[in-house]
Amino acid sequence: MENTGKKLPEATNFIEQFINEDIESGKVGAIQTRFPPEPNGYLHIGHAKSMFVNFGTALRYGGKCNLFFDDTNPSKEKTEFVDAIRADIRWLGYEWARECYASDFFDTIYEYALRLIREGKAFVCDLSAEEIKNTRGTLTEPGQESPYRNRTAEENLRLFTEMKEGKYRDGEKCLRAKIDMASPNLNMRDPVIYRILHATHHRTGDKWCIYPMYDYAHPICDYLQGVTHSLCTLEFEDHRPLYDWVGIALGFSPKPRQIEFARLNITNTVMSKRYLKKLVEENLVHGWDDPRMPTLSGLRNRGIPAEAVRDFCSRIGIAKANSECEYSYFEACVREYLNAHAERAMAVLSPLKLTITNYEGEELLDFDVNQADENAGTRAVKFGKHLYIESTDFSLDPPPKYFRLKKDGYVRLKNAYIVHCDDVAIDEQGNVQEVFCTYIPESHSGNDTSGIKVKGVIHWVNADECVDMQVRQYESLLRDADYAGQDFSERMNAQSEIILQAKAEPYLAQAKDGTPFQLMRTGYYKKCTDNGELVLSEIVSLKDNFNKK
Ligand code: ATP
Ligand code: MG
Repeated sequence: MENTGKKLPEATNFIEQFINEDIESGKVGAIQTRFPPEPNGYLHIGHAKSMFVNFGTALRYGGKCNLFFDDTNPSKEKTEFVDAIRADIRWLGYEWARECYASDFFDTIYEYALRLIREGKAFVCDLSAEEIKNTRGTLTEPGQESPYRNRTAEENLRLFTEMKEGKYRDGEKCLRAKIDMASPNLNMRDPVIYRILHATHHRTGDKWCIYPMYDYAHPICDYLQGVTHSLCTLEFEDHRPLYDWVGIALGFSPKPRQIEFARLNITNTVMSKRYLKKLVEENLVHGWDDPRMPTLSGLRNRGIPAEAVRDFCSRIGIAKANSECEYSYFEACVREYLNAHAERAMAVLSPLKLTITNYEGEELLDFDVNQADENAGTRAVKFGKHLYIESTDFSLDPPPKYFRLKKDGYVRLKNAYIVHCDDVAIDEQGNVQEVFCTYIPESHSGNDTSGIKVKGVIHWVNADECVDMQVRQYESLLRDADYAGQDFSERMNAQSEIILQAKAEPYLAQAKDGTPFQLMRTGYYKKCTDNGELVLSEIVSLKDNFNKK
């Protein structure tokens, strides 16, 4: 393959260094990668990193990235998952060149197995899975050769054909590569490459009752797609010699190159599909797209912008060594994006009535639509005599340095006036029912001549026009990381979803479903409608509160 002499992108990580070497040495021309999910569950944020690596690398080199469904395990795979995976990739903003399935290649994979048998590189073994495991040896001791290892090619061909024709039960026989039972790498000790499994496949139906193993099928599928660089996570590093063995045994040219990178791990976030599936099946969450789930559909449903997920993947970078990233780092990326893009609005999550006894009528006040965006302009909000404030912004028994509202104290109402609390209505249980204030007419925001100094500014909504909205607040599904080592079910946080009834500006109710807002002093919320009810669903709090408790 010739080197076109085009200038290479400067390598920003070790994968790109390898790719540049391969291009410079003339080993490869156009770059081709693939994103290889197994359709046995929904994609999670770890997959976002894999996509960032696979799609992102291809993009940088002007190459292509395929969507490759690794469907060699028929009992766990479903079309529902295939559809969800496609939708999630598109949401994240990637486009694949070609969509293909391991099962598209089953015929060729089978033909290649016949070739390996004819060339004495594979044999049919009658040992059970248990016996194979027990004769595999250990890291310090070699394994034992199977008594079936020296069957003739003719006998192997006959038996393998019979396996395919359904003559044997599951596990009665298998096909093994004939490599080296003394190899220091356990994956090279005559690994199983085909197994018998009488299962209906979601695409090939009952055509097959033998299925290739991942380690054998994957290099073949990569080669048949024209993959130049097969980028995968570190747990496959020990499998690379087998990946290469398959390519060499079958004479692939050019042989795809496998390069491993570190998985994304995030504190207090479990990504394994097995665990996520358990949460869904045991109804511990509302579904795969529950806003508390680390799935991409969960993040989307939560209102997290795809741009923030991509930005996060880009910032954490691509490394060769495993590490764990703080969840708060992800949240910071989400906040940064929303700060620049979300409109501001006011809602009161635990409403307390505030009446301004000396105010009559109403007026329109200017609010910045988004003070982080100069071009966003302003929006008018109606101020009046009857308001709601957060009950937490008033204290009967204020601690020192309490700058919000207290009896006989002053506070500024956001973008409006300074008010003085004259009186409080308290019910028989001692709960504050309503606060009565007087406002200072000369204290109008932006034109304050009152001379009164206040440290606290609180938000409010107009009680005469506000709307009721349900607020959903989220916390981590798992209680904090100190519980590590325990079963996940014991770590479940029973209070991870909190429902409140809020009073909100009418502007929020009119917004299109899905619009994100910064609720002043509270957090970022997505407006939505559920069964006709108006909902504000938390995306991320304004501050990092993970360690608050
Ligand atoms: P899980 O263990 O969550 O089930 P998986 O590896 O079995 O994940 P696949 O569907 O096989 O999931 O993964 C598709 C691709 O995504 C693989 O190349 C895999 O290495 C990669 N991937 C999965 N989890 C992560 C992660 N946390 N960080 C980076 N890449 C990941
Ligand atoms: Mg997997």
